[in-house]
Amino acid sequence: MRLSQLPWNTLKETPAEAEVVSHQLLLRAGLIRRLTSGIFTWMPLGLRVLRRVEQVVREEMDRAGALEILMPAVQPAELWQETGRWDRYGDLLLRIRDRHERDYCFGPTHEEVITDLARRELRSYRQLPVNYYQIQTKFRDEIRPRFGLMRAREFVMKDAYSFHLDQASLDESYATMAGAYGRIFTRLGLRFRTVEADSGEIGGSRSQEFHVLADSGEDAIAYCDADGYAANVEMAPTFAPRGPRAAPAATLTRVATPASRTIGEVSGLLGVPAQRCLKTLLVEGADGGLVALALRGDHTLNAVKAERLPQVAKPLAMASPERILALTGAPTGFAGPVGLAVPLVADHAAGKLADFVAGANADGFHHTGVNWGRDAAEPVCADLRNVEPGDPSPHGGPLQIARGIEVGHIFQLGTKYSQAMKATVLDHDGQERVMTMGCYGIGVSRIVAAAIEQNHDAQGIVWPGPMSPFDVMLLVLNPKNSDAVTAAAEKLYLQWRQAGLEVLLDDRDARPGVKFAEADLLGIPHRVVIGERGLKDGVVEYRHRRDGAEEKVAISDALAFLIRNRDAGAAA
Ligand code: ATP
Ligand code: MG
Repeated sequence: MRLSQLPWNTLKETPAEAEVVSHQLLLRAGLIRRLTSGIFTWMPLGLRVLRRVEQVVREEMDRAGALEILMPAVQPAELWQETGRWDRYGDLLLRIRDRHERDYCFGPTHEEVITDLARRELRSYRQLPVNYYQIQTKFRDEIRPRFGLMRAREFVMKDAYSFHLDQASLDESYATMAGAYGRIFTRLGLRFRTVEADSGEIGGSRSQEFHVLADSGEDAIAYCDADGYAANVEMAPTFAPRGPRAAPAATLTRVATPASRTIGEVSGLLGVPAQRCLKTLLVEGADGGLVALALRGDHTLNAVKAERLPQVAKPLAMASPERILALTGAPTGFAGPVGLAVPLVADHAAGKLADFVAGANADGFHHTGVNWGRDAAEPVCADLRNVEPGDPSPHGGPLQIARGIEVGHIFQLGTKYSQAMKATVLDHDGQERVMTMGCYGIGVSRIVAAAIEQNHDAQGIVWPGPMSPFDVMLLVLNPKNSDAVTAAAEKLYLQWRQAGLEVLLDDRDARPGVKFAEADLLGIPHRVVIGERGLKDGVVEYRHRRDGAEEKVAISDALAFLIRNRDAGAAA
């Protein structure tokens, strides 16, 4: 592609509406344009990136034996009523009415449509297993679509759905998909982690998420490189500290702590580390009363785990200041286990504390030297907290925590949809059997944003080679000044393309400084500059976008050099 023939507008300033760096750079580099909130047009250069991602996804789905189809984006309400999701899916669902007053939605996902298809098309166990996939536009009316392609309303997803006679067959396809996903993200040149997303509860369905690691990620991931464990922090379990609890040594003492409500303030005032302070959180109970959740002062509550307690109301709700005052006689910040008249559940680590500090259920007072079993009832213990760096993984190794962007999700659905929609086949004995299902999503357009979140610098995007809109940027210095330079550039452009390189030729009549800055912003990994001086010496100047060192390459060697570098980048 010749830049002289592309209306390409880059932006010097960061657009005010863009909060995350991928959104900023996608707009600044002219890869996408906003139509309205959460809805974007893919511009020529941006679309090339999306297509490259799609291509890798498609190749790996095909290799894994999945069958490509394309389902309608608009779906009749009746199918969603069959599964009960017409009411349950809520405001994310964009509802549409046609001229006959019939209800439809713009598909946020396709379980209903595919299950309807499967119940019509699949009759016999002999046709199973089968895995259908599509790459298609979805719509979810997200509340805060403010992160560009990361959380758009209209976005491109690859979704696949597999159908099986039994669990063993589902397990097999699920494993094949997990492998295919690993290959996809590896081939795209992204640093990623596969994380357990299931709750670990018995009978819970298997589910794994694929996260691109980036500091700006919305999710926190706990992982251990030594033992291979990785899970969403929401799901990673914590364990009771080993060994017995220390015997009480201190006496229970009431101390004045005026205006000290937070753990930080109390620990500072009393000179006791946060690890020896107890955080007592009051939440709404399942029976309408309150429940106390006790954590070590340096730990944080995990809402998913708290909601799993039968005593606790779902969704988790903190008690109001009025109810806390009515219960403890004190404002928020002074609750503690001594004399507290509601059920208390302590995190495992909090249950191992001795001689600790806790609120005294009186305005401006705490207790020191508190001990379970002596000053307060022996607590019921549960896993209530988020893992911290250094905590052991379930396999024993030390955990690290990183941030991630969910780009893929694979899920064992079981018979949830097939049962509701009566999707059956005849088994070996001629009996009707409800099919077992798996579903497998990839956020194709989100991958484009996630790649930028992971790969950028102050100058702009640094594309992983396999996702870059072009392999090579051939930048011509002052083409208007020299016919020889223009002719030489033209020759290289044709020759390189013939050899299979994707080349973007910057043949514009623009200042070199502008062209360099825009090349950096766009982020094609391999940049070659051709100019009058170099041409006299028979060389071009090569630079890799990531490391920035310039290198002179003989024009006669340039093609082989570029192919070598491109292939090395793809393999890395
Ligand atoms: P999230 O938790 O980020 O809202 P999800 O778990 O609801 O996503 P899935 O239903 O698992 O999403 O969809 C499959 C994939 O589609 C996700 O892994 C994600 O990569 C992508 N995706 C979901 N919602 C969006 C969105 N609003 N914009 C872009 N991509 C999205
Ligand atoms: Mg998901």
